[in-house]
Amino acid sequence: MTTRHVVVGGGPAGLFAVETIRGLDPQAEITLVADETPYSRMVLPYLMAREIPEEHVYTGSAEHWASLRVRPVTGQRATALDPRQGRLTLADGSTLAFDRCLIATGSSPIRPDISGAGGARVHNLWTLADAQRTIEVVQGLRGGPARVIFIGAGFIGFIVLNALAKLGCVLSVVELEDQILPRMLDGEAAALARAWLGRRGVGVHTGVRATEIGDAGPDKTVRLSDGTTIAGDLVVLAIGVRPNVDLARQAGLRVDQGILADDHLGTSAPNVYAAGDCAQGPDVSTGGQAVHAIQPTAVEHGRVAGANMAGRATRYAGSLVMNILDVVGLQCASFGLWKGDDRETSVVVGARRPAYRKLCWDGERMVGAILLGPADDVALLNDLGMVKGLIQARRPLGPWAAELKRNPMDVRRAFVAAGTPGALVGQTLLGQPLAEQRYRLTGRGPDREPHRAADVLPQIKLDPTRGKGRGHEATRVAVD
Ligand SMILES: Cc1cc2nc3c(=O)[nH]c(=O)nc-3n(C[C@H](O)[C@H](O)[C@H](O)COP(=O)(O)OP(=O)(O)OC[C@H]3O[C@@H](n4cnc5c(N)ncnc54)[C@H](O)[C@@H]3O)c2cc1C
Repeated sequence: MTTRHVVVGGGPAGLFAVETIRGLDPQAEITLVADETPYSRMVLPYLMAREIPEEHVYTGSAEHWASLRVRPVTGQRATALDPRQGRLTLADGSTLAFDRCLIATGSSPIRPDISGAGGARVHNLWTLADAQRTIEVVQGLRGGPARVIFIGAGFIGFIVLNALAKLGCVLSVVELEDQILPRMLDGEAAALARAWLGRRGVGVHTGVRATEIGDAGPDKTVRLSDGTTIAGDLVVLAIGVRPNVDLARQAGLRVDQGILADDHLGTSAPNVYAAGDCAQGPDVSTGGQAVHAIQPTAVEHGRVAGANMAGRATRYAGSLVMNILDVVGLQCASFGLWKGDDRETSVVVGARRPAYRKLCWDGERMVGAILLGPADDVALLNDLGMVKGLIQARRPLGPWAAELKRNPMDVRRAFVAAGTPGALVGQTLLGQPLAEQRYRLTGRGPDREPHRAADVLPQIKLDPTRGKGRGHEATRVAVD
């Protein structure tokens, strides 16, 4: 019998689910309901930095849907879900019948409760429309680089900040907590990143609240709780995102921070699955359930949910929380369990260059890490992948644990000698590699044109700030 699948949401979670279902069940009927034309949010910073043309942002096309034999219903919101009847209602009142439904509705940016947050040239950076509006403001200015004020110094804010730094924008960041990137870096790494930003002219204001956004002539102004006022051309609100759980709530599904999803990405209704930013699914590090709201988790969720929907029972070990970020030329990354002072750690700090490495241990197993250093340091970039692999493999490293604790810079030998590559190869989600994402290149080869942003050198003003570090009672090694 033909199974009828309905997938709600055209982000990576929804699209990977659709492709997985089709790969496993050639007969299935698949309908994709998406309120936006599917595109990748993750590549928006490259669009803003003028490194890719807009056509590279889109992740679907009529030919792609036809090749997958998927019925796209785009530009339509799903408004109600009835798991018992197997029925999804759309905004125009029409209904779709399903045997299995996936909710992959993503998340939405949180609007801060600040006077003036709804004004002109104040917006989030979450959608393609937001990116296009930013490009208009930045390109539309005459007589100097655009001045952009970020409210919120988190992962997404800094991804966008980095893109605008490439265009030479004058940048300021306001953060309520005492450090930048509070959910990604510990205090010591954040202090190094802050000093790096200060040396590159980025104004950093931590431990303060933005109390009012206003206008002064052509300028936007942001007043802070310490009495400072910052003037700019554009205000970006980046204080975090919240899972889109309305549809699941209305359907009576179990919802905590996100839609609760089990180790098969099933929800509390047997015929409904949840994936991506909206789902609170298995966390590989804690064994609990967590909302990670990152692309790799959305892709994995989509594949596992799609396989289970297509009838191939697939257990998911869980996602690894990770963030990898270029902070204006400083590579910052964290993986797994790095928070808390009760864990055994081995720490390396650079004596003469900004370098920081903290490996976190549970006996002989590496469970978390923070790495930071110049983005052009090839050794660091290599180590990022290997440290992630060591954590993801979750294997006791035997004598190599002691070796790595003694010298946290010597990752490669431990990675190879402890058999990590072999352990990782066995960790494919579906026992098969990911299919090539051909639609991204629309049949053409990669764009060989030089990056236009490279023509625009950053012209940024100096506004040095000093960060405060926090000591660790742990192994510490200094490197040059
Ligand atoms: C600028 C930017 C940069 C980023 N960079 C990174 C990065 O470097 N690394 C990383 O890991 N992550 C990054 N992210 C986060 C990453 O993009 C998200 O984690 C990922 O898109 C989540 O995928 P998803 O499919 O769950 O949700 P989404 O991509 O948000 O897709 C969900 C879709 O469902 C639609 N939808 C919602 N409700 C309904 C409804 N009722 N009916 C129909 N459609 C609906 C939404 O409009 C949306 O189109 C970035 C995000 C942004 C905005």
